[in-house]
Amino acid sequence: MLTQAPKGTRDVLPTDSYRWQYVEARMRQAAAEAGYREVRTPVFEHTELFLRGVGDTTDIVQKEMYTFKDKGDRSITLKPEGTAGAVRSFVESGAFNDPMPCKMYYLNAPIFRYENPQSGRLREHHQFGLECFGAKDASVDAELIMLAYRLLGGLGVKNLSVNINSIGCPRCRPAYHQLLRQYLGERIGCMCDTCKGRFERNPLRVLDCKEKKCQEQVKDAPSMLDVLCDECREHFAQLQKYLSLTGIPYRIDSRIVRGLDYYTKTVFELITTTKDGNLTVCGGGRYDKLVEELGGPSLPGVGFGMGIERVLMLLDGEGIVIPEPRLYDVFVTYMGQNDGPAFSLVQQLRCAGLRADMDHCARSLKAQFKYAGKTGAALTATLGDDEVAQGVVKLKNMATREEQTVPVSEAPQAARAMLEA
Ligand code: ATP
Ligand code: MG
Repeated sequence: MLTQAPKGTRDVLPTDSYRWQYVEARMRQAAAEAGYREVRTPVFEHTELFLRGVGDTTDIVQKEMYTFKDKGDRSITLKPEGTAGAVRSFVESGAFNDPMPCKMYYLNAPIFRYENPQSGRLREHHQFGLECFGAKDASVDAELIMLAYRLLGGLGVKNLSVNINSIGCPRCRPAYHQLLRQYLGERIGCMCDTCKGRFERNPLRVLDCKEKKCQEQVKDAPSMLDVLCDECREHFAQLQKYLSLTGIPYRIDSRIVRGLDYYTKTVFELITTTKDGNLTVCGGGRYDKLVEELGGPSLPGVGFGMGIERVLMLLDGEGIVIPEPRLYDVFVTYMGQNDGPAFSLVQQLRCAGLRADMDHCARSLKAQFKYAGKTGAALTATLGDDEVAQGVVKLKNMATREEQTVPVSEAPQAARAMLEA
């Protein structure tokens, strides 16, 4: 128990974190290219925020939240998604007074959902997410889809498909709810108990049910796209116009509704096929009522969330090698009594911006070389008695075996020259 991480959580080990850092750097770059700046919001929020924001008929709110009372008897919930917190901070900070749009991203945000852990499904996962407030044009929806597509493609993810849909707005959706209820009426008997509850309160949710028997029943359900109001239809047409300009392939899938209640108009998913079936890497959409719903002015929003573990899983699955940075440029090897000069040399190398270290475990000189080799150090810098007596150090390139003896004071420059040779 003590040495076992809780079910559905995963450590990122020091031997593995470079893979995260590589993907994160690409994500930051993609966000910056489109004018998104980073926001960091707390890991927990008042439970009320998610009840209102995410919607109390969603699986997330009904089954998956980590909610607890703090010592002050407040109900607190660990973030089950990224958008509500971003909206809360947007409203609280008064950023809505600035010229719009307001673009922000979050990276590595831990997300908590009490789910059944399985491949690609964790209880704590991490998301890269973008939110754009105050822009109603479909050009932003398209920019986000394009950004996610290019990012994933650039990382080497293959077989990406972009699926889009529109789920309308409070003006046209009630008519669809009615249509859907009519269609589901005779079928709901064969569906799961959760869907029976959804049927009354939010029939759209039924389309998102993961149960096989329910999916079977909704195969031929009417499409929201047939009943969109003029404004929503025009917006969806605009989205497609912009997507066509990007040249990326996309599919309209009227089954996509997404697992969060706040969406209006555009919803989208980026899906890949893996050996275990389809995997959604990125999901998002427009939420034109959410800012107001959470106590802010009436401003539209649109965004997406991308699961970082899933991105890494896909890269793994496709055998994409992420370059591993070198642990040490220079490893200082020394005879036991020369620990002082060795220690000083290490500091001198580090001050010059080189990655350097020495033995801290009383190894023999031979064992130090062996250890340096294991760490993949590019160079060794040896301080034997002769070297110390003469104020020099012997640098050796571990790959080419090339050696050079230089004054200790010149060690950093000489090491750098050897590294760059
Ligand atoms: P799914 O349909 O796979 O349950 P979702 O619709 O619940 O996904 P979102 O809430 O849109 O997912 O979250 C955005 C992204 O976060 C997903 O596309 C996925 O990459 C990732 N994600 C969601 N839930 C998990 C999880 N439990 N473990 C790992 N990654 C997840
Ligand atoms: Mg889910």
